[in-house]
Amino acid sequence: MEMPAACLFDLDGLLLDTEPLHAEAWQRASSHFGRPLSPTELLSLRGRRRLDCAEQVRLWIRESGLTAPDSEALLAVRQPIAEALMLQAPPMAGARSLLERCAALQIPMALATSSSSAAVAHKSGPHPWLGLITVRVHGDDPDLRAGKPEPDVFLLAAERLGVEAHTCWAFEDSPAGATAAARAGCRVHVVAPAGLDHRSYPDGVIWLDSLNDLAI
Ligand SMILES: [Mg+2]
Repeated sequence: MEMPAACLFDLDGLLLDTEPLHAEAWQRASSHFGRPLSPTELLSLRGRRRLDCAEQVRLWIRESGLTAPDSEALLAVRQPIAEALMLQAPPMAGARSLLERCAALQIPMALATSSSSAAVAHKSGPHPWLGLITVRVHGDDPDLRAGKPEPDVFLLAAERLGVEAHTCWAFEDSPAGATAAARAGCRVHVVAPAGLDHRSYPDGVIWLDSLNDLAI
């Protein structure tokens, strides 16, 4: 069986089922300022850094003719909602067993996430199995220049593992994340969320129904 030099994992929507909770938090925050978000808008926020999402939501609020709050005010409404919701996030199907198989096979692993270090620590609390991944790149990493869909998160993760990105397998769920991984040159596996058009993803990705489908 062909094996990757390393596996680079997204977190939200790939290892933990947090995306419906993120969407609910953005919905409640934007609605607080008078601008409910459509399902398509909520899907487009997936996989992106919190500050990038906040900028996008502010733009939508402004485009509706409303006075947009600054990012700080928007996030002040959103963060307590999100933090309370995140503790309820269950693992995605097959996530824990895939990490355990990689660990048993001594395949190096890294986390390549848009989430901040503090947010990852918070979400990981109920999931000690995520501790199998010790090398991590967070959205607020001081060495990170640009968030997904730019390739930097995956390039930095590969660099920290001492491997070339093009020899890595990346695992993603969002169009922004899959685009980032493809631009980094990884072999990209996608567990696509329901409701997302496959045409939003880069060409050449490998589709999985769940992480249980992977032959590692
Ligand atoms: Mg994701």
